[in-house]
Formats: sequence, C-alpha cells, structure tokens
Amino acid sequence: MTRCAKLSGFVLACVLTCLSGCARKEPPTVRLQWTVMGTVAAVQCPSRSEAQRAKQICERIFSEQEEIFSVWREDSVISKVNRSAGGGVPLPVTGHFRKVLGCALEVHAKSDGAFNPLLAPLSKLWGFLGAKQISREPSQGAIDAALALTDCGDVQLDAAGCLLRKKGMTLDLGGIAKGYAVDVAYDALRGAGFSVFLIDLGGNIRVSGNPHSDQEGWRIGIRDPHSRHGVASVVCLNSGEATATSADYERFRIVDGKRYGHIVDARTGRPAQGRACTVKASSAMVADVLSTAVYVLDGRKSESLLKEYSATRLY
Ligand code: AMP
Ligand code: MG
Repeated sequence: MTRCAKLSGFVLACVLTCLSGCARKEPPTVRLQWTVMGTVAAVQCPSRSEAQRAKQICERIFSEQEEIFSVWREDSVISKVNRSAGGGVPLPVTGHFRKVLGCALEVHAKSDGAFNPLLAPLSKLWGFLGAKQISREPSQGAIDAALALTDCGDVQLDAAGCLLRKKGMTLDLGGIAKGYAVDVAYDALRGAGFSVFLIDLGGNIRVSGNPHSDQEGWRIGIRDPHSRHGVASVVCLNSGEATATSADYERFRIVDGKRYGHIVDARTGRPAQGRACTVKASSAMVADVLSTAVYVLDGRKSESLLKEYSATRLY
C-alpha cells in the first residue's frame, strides 16, 4: 500500500462534510484541511480566525498521535512494539497507546473476533500493508500461517507495558486510532474554549455545539458507496456525537478480476464482503472501531454489539 493509495480517503472526507457547510439554512462555516496520517484532516468553525486556531491545535495533536500509532514510521511506539514481538520483554507504552489497544482488545472479544488489531500479517498477504503487490489470491497455507499470528490471547498489556508473545505478530490499530485522535483533539478544543466546531480525520467526524439557528445540529452527508460523488443519506449529529464510515471504496485491490476491500475478516483470513458501514456513537473512537467491526459482522451480532456501546448504524 502506498501513501498515495491511502490518500483515497480524501474524497470520502470531503463529501462527508461538505453538507455541513453548504446546507441551505446553515450559516457558513469555514473549513480548513491538511494531510496527516495518510489521509485528509479538516476542521470547521464559524469563523476563519477560529478555524485557523483550531487547525493549529489539531495539527499538533494529530502529529503526536501519528508518532504513536503509525505503522509506516519506524520510530512510532507501535512499530517498536511490533519489532520487539517474541522478545519476551514488555515495551513501556504511553497512556494513549494503552487506551486504544485496551479498547481494541475489548471490541475484539465482544465482536467474536470480527475486529482484530493483529491482522497485519493478513493485510500484508492481501497486498494492503507494505510494498507487496499481489497478482493472485494467497494460498490457503499462507493464509493459515498468517492466521496463526492473530491470536489476541498472545497480547500482554499490563503495568510493565505491551508484549506480543510470538515473533511475527504485528499490531495495526488503523481501524480505531484515527477515531481516538479525533477525541483527543475534541477534548483539547473544548478545553481551549471552542464551542462550535467539527473535526474530521479521514471520515472520522466529531462535532461540538450547533452551527444552526433551528437546533438541528450538524448535517453530515454519507457518501453513496455505489457512486463516486453521490450522497446516500444525510445524518444529523448533536453536540459531542461522532460518526465513522468503513468502506471498500476507500482502498481496494482487483485480484484475478475480483474486487477485494481492505478490511479483512480475521475469522476466515479473507477480505470481508461488506461495501460500506456508517456508525454514530458518543465518541469518535467507538464510532471508528464499531464501523470496522460491523462492516465485518453479520446482522444479528452487529446489532447486539452496537447496543452494548449505545451506538447506531446509520448506513
Ligand atoms: P477503517 O477504515 O476504520 O474501517 O479501518 C480500516 C483499517 O483497519 C484497515 O486499513 C486496516 O489497517 C485495519 N483493519 C482491517 N481489517 C480489520 C479488522 N477486521 N479488524 C481490525 N482492524 C482491521
Ligand atoms: Mg474504523
């Protein structure tokens, strides 16, 4: 996967948030965007000066989070944990890392394994992580060997730090860390006195306050998975709420004429069959992790999982 391919989230982010700035009854908000974590980040505020200050704060926070969670950076905390796999000694980790991995492991258990933060060996096999391009489906033997490295029971997370017990085990928190970064930025902006704003990190969106006079909240357009520019539905977010979308149009591979999305079902070792899933929750981390999990899961199990976190599937 190249950084360029990861930027495909750009289109998604733009379509998702433009409605909040151009709905007829809404006063104009100013949207500023930049690239980070291999995707597009944006803030929206009622005035340009507020948006500029908010952007500065969010830029700093997203860069800090990237230093912890980027699997593309050799010096990130996650890369150090991955390199020490099988070494028998836990690596000290930050509070941010502990929170995100803790939540990932919890959702792994509650989703019957649909969400799995150890999927990287499978993502690599299917050509979604690392430089390898694939021209045919991986063999069942290769899938089984990669699956043997995805047992979350082999992750130790305690006061001493984090240890992956087997060599070759690799954490990838790409299905949850962007949502968490949005929550950290949300808390920082609220703490700095901002009351009306929207933060968007690659389609992980959280809003504060209400830019409307008619009390409807922020209006967010959900991209139609079947068309590049169409909007499938418009949702309303109230202050503090968050939404996240997982979709196969963000990143996919065509292998032997078949289309495979970048979300892998750890129970089979094969790309999951979903097309798009949008979840609303009370935090961006929960919306992010659940949108990925529900994308993989079948209907009944996803309903109970969403209920446990008081979250809703919007699309
Ligand atoms: P998202 O766009 O939030 O759904 O996250 C997708 C990213 O999460 C992928 O690019 C992988 O890094 C990672 N991922 C893929 N499949 C899974 C899975 N089943 N469980 C956890 N993370 C996954
Ligand atoms: Mg996610």
